[in-house]
Amino acid sequence: MRLVVDLNRCQGYAQCAFLAPDVFAMHGDEGLLYDPQAQEAQRERVAQAAAACPVQAILVDDLDRPDGAAARTPATAASGAGGEASDG
Ligand code: SF4
Repeated sequence: MRLVVDLNRCQGYAQCAFLAPDVFAMHGDEGLLYDPQAQEAQRERVAQAAAACPVQAILVDDLDRPDGAAARTPATAASGAGGEASDG
């Protein structure tokens, strides 16, 4: 998954570093370090961090994309065999 932190918005509240310490880390008092290509295993934590950020500085493409969830579900394999043809 890919994520971006808008460092112009980030106020260093460190909510993200608290919720997803493997992805976000405060560097001293001024800077936030983060992994822009976090592991999939971190998805839920990153989602929580993004939700908790007071200034919505954390942007995650897979979370924001409506079809992101759909892409992870099995393909809509409608079984064609035995399909009812309501043909008059
Ligand atoms: S929670 Fe938001 S404002 Fe706080 S350090 Fe993380 S990105 Fe910055």
